[in-house]
Amino acid sequence: MMNVPLNIATMLERAEALFPKKQVISRMKSGIVRHTYREIGERTRRLASALKQLGVEIGDRVGTLAWNHHRHLEAYFAIPGIGAVLHTINIRLSPEHIAYIINHANDRVLLIDEDFLPVIENIKNEIPNVQAFIVMTEEDSVPETSLSPVYHYENLLQKGEAHFAFLKNMDENSPSGICYTSATTGWPKGVVYSHRATVLHSMALGLADSAGLSETDVAMPVVPMFHVNAWGLPFAAVWFGTTLVMPGAAFTPKILAELMEVEKVTLAAGVPTVWLGLLKELEKEDYDLSSVKRILCGGAAAPKGLIRAFEERGIPFVHAYGMTETSPLVVLSRLKSYQQHLSKNEKLDIRAKQGFLVPGVEMKVIGKDGDVSWNGTEMGELCLRGPWIASEYYHDERSKESFRDGWLYTGDVVTVDEEGFIKIVDRTKDVIKSGGEWISSVDLENALMAHEAVFEAAVVAVPHPEWQERPVACVVVKEGKTVTKDELYDFLRPQFAKWWLPDEIVFVDEIPKTSVGKFLKTKLREQLRSYFTN
Ligand code: ADP
Repeated sequence: MMNVPLNIATMLERAEALFPKKQVISRMKSGIVRHTYREIGERTRRLASALKQLGVEIGDRVGTLAWNHHRHLEAYFAIPGIGAVLHTINIRLSPEHIAYIINHANDRVLLIDEDFLPVIENIKNEIPNVQAFIVMTEEDSVPETSLSPVYHYENLLQKGEAHFAFLKNMDENSPSGICYTSATTGWPKGVVYSHRATVLHSMALGLADSAGLSETDVAMPVVPMFHVNAWGLPFAAVWFGTTLVMPGAAFTPKILAELMEVEKVTLAAGVPTVWLGLLKELEKEDYDLSSVKRILCGGAAAPKGLIRAFEERGIPFVHAYGMTETSPLVVLSRLKSYQQHLSKNEKLDIRAKQGFLVPGVEMKVIGKDGDVSWNGTEMGELCLRGPWIASEYYHDERSKESFRDGWLYTGDVVTVDEEGFIKIVDRTKDVIKSGGEWISSVDLENALMAHEAVFEAAVVAVPHPEWQERPVACVVVKEGKTVTKDELYDFLRPQFAKWWLPDEIVFVDEIPKTSVGKFLKTKLREQLRSYFTN
């Protein structure tokens, strides 16, 4: 067979050739703007040529700080289209972490939405290697800024060549992108994607039994383009000629609902909080969302109630799992043909799991005594390998911990049922190892948070002289409510084995969080470390 290198630019070329009339619809400050793939193609070529004129060379990193819109999409293709590396910067990281990743990736040029100018202005003295700042603005000129040298995105495009030829004959394993994970401890870790991985991952998004993305879809990535490349949807959508709807800056559930209705969105993707917000909006007002064929939900566990609520409205809801290190799509929860006859509740129980492997990826699950059985109860760490799974962190000593014997150790603790559906029960660093058995902190937290007086709950492992570790729960009570420790124990007791119950329930004012809003359990563990030994 021909050994033709897989290449990101060819995906855009397909859209230009076969779907020049199809559209990318972006919600901008000025209103909705529409570009055809013919226009996007030309604008991307102009951007690629302008970046070359600015001195960007093969292998150089170009950072973006931007919302989901057509300009960001152009950067997605222009940067790898000249053999450079697209670094999508997570704007939700702390300024310190943003400066760190810009320096660690060694970004030469930054493309910045006007909204994020202050972020970069504040750290400009800490990022001396950035040689050019390109401002993506709707205005005719660059707004007042202390950054220098600074360029106007649209002016640069004017100077670029409309027929610029993309670089396509490079090794398919060449780097095309880099994303950093938001570390809960220590500095963010970089994952480098290749042309090959990106193309193969896009193909997986198109499989009927996976996300099933197709030309007939109108896809709306709500997940930010700075978060694992909006789960790869922009690449796949362009390749397939799918209409794209980009929700832009500072959207609300109402804005999303209106966009979905007006643009007749068929597939939307985002994290559970987005869909919880949308659900509240749908409860308030009527929208015609009959066009929606599926909602993809991942990044955190989708509560069963959320899945049920959407499906009762006739909107199929697909739970998926992945991480920055896995491009991210690896696991997706879809019923098998012979599971369709099960009762509504049984089906919901299965669909609320994270799902089973998409074709192309392999897994093993390592428990305390080696490979776990597929019985739905034994816990182990999920390990993955495949052509779109990272093999190391970029220039990072910590690679050794996560990448061993050709596998990615995900740090996620799972159970696997007889049908191969995995269920995430914890993180390896959070699971409580009590007398040789594992207790899921997440299960205890979910149970506590289901109590009507509990706002938030985090359960952490605290060192114990006899049992090695025991669970301690930290609970934030809802404003205006009261609850006692005994009431919470009474609430938990029927749901868990006795040895699972937390040894202590501590009431706190708030749970410390990371920059992206995940529980910072390391801090709680630190505070409670000597609870049983003092
Ligand atoms: P970060 O580490 O920057 O938060 P990721 O998006 O890479 O970013 O996070 C990946 C982690 O998110 C996974 O390892 C897993 O713990 C969690 N996760 C992702 N999807 C799900 C899901 N559907 N259910 C439960 N947890 C999930």
